[in-house]
Amino acid sequence: MATVQELRERLRRPLAAELAGGCQNRVVAGGVEKLLSSPLANPFPMVRERLAGYADWDESERAEALQDALKLLGDKEKPKATATRSARTAPPTAEPGERLPPDAPVAQLDTGPGGTRKLSSLGLHNLRDVLHAYPHRHEDRRALPDLANVEEGQKVTVEGVVVNKHRRTPKPNMLIIEITLETPSGGRVKASWFNQPWVERQLREGARLILTGRVKKFGNRVQLSVEHIEKMEVAQDSLSTGRIVGVYDSKDGISQEFLRKAAFKALQAVPLDDYLPAHWRKQRGVTDLADALWGIHFPRDEGHLSRANHRLRFDEYLFLELRMLLQGDDAVLQGKRFQASGDDISRFEAALPFRFTNAQRRVLLEITDDMRSDRQMARLVQGDVGSGKTAVAACALYLAVRDGYQGALMAPTEILARQHYKNLVGYLGQLDVRVGLLIGAMTPRQKLEMQTRIAEGDVDVVVGTQALIQENVQWGNLGLAVVDEEHRFGVQQRRKLLQSRPDVLVMSATPIPRSLALTAYGDLELSIIDELPPGRTPIETKLIQDNYRTQAYGFVMKQIREGRQAYVVTSLIEENENLELLAATQLADDLKVILPEARIDLLHGKMSAAEKDHVMERFRRQEFDILVSTTVIEVGVDVPNATVMVIENAERFGLSQLHQLRGRVGRGSAQSYCVLIAGEHSQKTRKRLKIIEGSTDGFVIAEADLKLRGPGELRGTRQSGIPDLRLADLANDTEIIEQARELAKHILANDPKLEHPRLQYLRSELQNRSQSVAFREVI
Ligand code: ADP
Ligand code: MG
Repeated sequence: MATVQELRERLRRPLAAELAGGCQNRVVAGGVEKLLSSPLANPFPMVRERLAGYADWDESERAEALQDALKLLGDKEKPKATATRSARTAPPTAEPGERLPPDAPVAQLDTGPGGTRKLSSLGLHNLRDVLHAYPHRHEDRRALPDLANVEEGQKVTVEGVVVNKHRRTPKPNMLIIEITLETPSGGRVKASWFNQPWVERQLREGARLILTGRVKKFGNRVQLSVEHIEKMEVAQDSLSTGRIVGVYDSKDGISQEFLRKAAFKALQAVPLDDYLPAHWRKQRGVTDLADALWGIHFPRDEGHLSRANHRLRFDEYLFLELRMLLQGDDAVLQGKRFQASGDDISRFEAALPFRFTNAQRRVLLEITDDMRSDRQMARLVQGDVGSGKTAVAACALYLAVRDGYQGALMAPTEILARQHYKNLVGYLGQLDVRVGLLIGAMTPRQKLEMQTRIAEGDVDVVVGTQALIQENVQWGNLGLAVVDEEHRFGVQQRRKLLQSRPDVLVMSATPIPRSLALTAYGDLELSIIDELPPGRTPIETKLIQDNYRTQAYGFVMKQIREGRQAYVVTSLIEENENLELLAATQLADDLKVILPEARIDLLHGKMSAAEKDHVMERFRRQEFDILVSTTVIEVGVDVPNATVMVIENAERFGLSQLHQLRGRVGRGSAQSYCVLIAGEHSQKTRKRLKIIEGSTDGFVIAEADLKLRGPGELRGTRQSGIPDLRLADLANDTEIIEQARELAKHILANDPKLEHPRLQYLRSELQNRSQSVAFREVI
């Protein structure tokens, strides 16, 4: 028979694992309560009792209970694996009033029992981390509301003592907990919780609470639908009441009060020397660092808070820009210097069958300014599909060639390379420019021949894929490289191309808001073509609900009978290629039943690049009518005969993504259509999708998308590795970003390596932020 000691150990281990695994109730087969009902737990009734109801609790309740249970099982409170220092070697905490450097470990701050462990479980290891762990929101607790005057639906924060608690179970599966809170002025508020057993322990009579929620009135009685509970450990803590208070990210029952105290102590302990010289701050109208850090944690009033927020946001962008500019320490590179004469521009334009739009002309000016200067051009041209980026790039290539240089145009896929090749031959062929193609699909002999021509300067402009930057391509005299569809290339590849120091022009058809572009492509200058050439027939967009699906496909069939082709795109919520493939295959099979006459084929993410190119090529040659696809067709292939784009479950896509997809049609002269099928009928979805129905301007849509979804979710931003901007509000920060960027450039122009003693603080802050978890990049 097992001894109690053994049973204890057998019970302790899974519970500890459950705690370490984040309290998901998944570690123990059948759940924690199942384990406790086994005979194993017989000798430990208190543990049983403490964990009863486990399945219904939230994670922090669970964690707290598990910790208690483990203590009951004789687990000494020992530091988690992360805290390796033993108590004996732990540094002594600072004396009150002693100053500490920002790098000092949090252990040196007196944050009470378990304080260090709590902070490090939140990823806060030194004082800098604590200072920069800003509240995610603030609550106004200055004047607690006069309960006699609050209005129905108003959001209020009240503070008081629980004077009354009821617990009712009117039905077996229903638990209602009801309390009365008495405020310091004697007012009374009722609040109730329905089936939330985990809140019960916080609601003991006599507990001092701060409740935030919406008011419901029944005559004079005030009832609160509580959204946020905070338990006060000490009566009248001045950091948590009577002021605007910050609410922090927390977990595992780490209280807001504790976090506020930690922030307060860190602010007191660390000398908040500003790394920005006063005259720079003054010029940009930003407050000093101490004012900002105090203001974000403990604002005196709204003005203080917004001032703080502005300064700290400014800093985030500044450090981001500095880091990007310093990457590879070649902020200002020597590039090629071209004549780019007005005569040559006129000659190019005269050969065009159209005239440049104003937007094209403006962007071309920005490009030629760069080309004429000594600096290496690194410019991003953004514009919707069809806005005429390629035409502008062709002009720049022409100018490079006229100055005796070679040019390159790199595309992400072979099919796009071929398409660009055709276009460039169209633009440049008549101007005596020799255009070549170099792609993987060519025979070794063809490739070798092209490589030789490139090396001997026997070709002026070469279009290709990655093959263009491979080792065995020796450029005779590369002056300008144009890179299409940036997001498909890694930064590394761009650098590789840059090694021979040509000027570089990147084209992207993903309209992203200026603020986002500035941060995502911080190392590139930005030009935007925000106007489409005249005379386009706008794509007609229709949003329908999925019960009209059959009619939608009836319309598709009508177009097919007229000789047109259609795209049908499907998506899944989860990014799982296997499931996505399944969904696309399923959809193709469905369509074969609904539209027996149509020829249908499939394109999906599990195909190789060559297989995809092959399917696209067959679609282009009209060998079938409907291309069913997962989202892989986003990239810019032209099939002018395709006039319908159907997007299934359109609600699962971001607006910008939908706009990109829609851009696949309308490439020819015929009227084109986009049908958005909403698989979900909520008002919110409808409102969102209506934006696409109502606008064809990619930038307007991208702004709306940014406002609705937040920058992290925008397509492409993850890959481009936007650092974790904690306060950033990209939808509204364009001006601050531009200021920060301008300052970053100014700093580096005068002192490319940040060596001046005056910039010593700035340099170390930059280094520290790059290492700090608080500013870790999300990749
Ligand atoms: P993008 O590269 O931005 O997708 P392109 O340069 O390929 O756009 O242009 C799309 C189409 O519009 C091409 O057929 C091109 O010849 C035509 N085009 C470009 N600029 C103009 C213009 N200013 N006026 C009329 N048509 C134009
Ligand atoms: Mg294009």
